[in-house]
Amino acid sequence: MHEYHLIEKIIRDVLTQGKEKEVLEIILSVSDSSGLDPDAIKLYFDEIREKESRLKDAKLSVRLVATKLYCPKCDLDFERVNKSFFCPKCAGGALRCAVNRQIHIEKVAFKS
Ligand SMILES: [Zn+2]
Repeated sequence: MHEYHLIEKIIRDVLTQGKEKEVLEIILSVSDSSGLDPDAIKLYFDEIREKESRLKDAKLSVRLVATKLYCPKCDLDFERVNKSFFCPKCAGGALRCAVNRQIHIEKVAFKS
């Protein structure tokens, strides 16, 4: 259910961004170890679409990207390379970003 709310919030943001325009396409990027399942995201999206006429022709794509990590010491976000959990700047241990930062709107197209 948590995921559903996350997706719903992202879609709300898209709709706000488009003002009154209809949405044609949404591309999301999701990191590969976020636990967010692209198929589940598409199902949630279909549910939201039924309630929102501005989404009726919208196409959703979900792209998997590398895990995003965060170094609290350097206040730095970076992508994980070679499964390393160390900060590229200070070599200290990094943390996984919170799940709501593992998903991003990459591109949105509106009907003009
Ligand atoms: Zn660091």
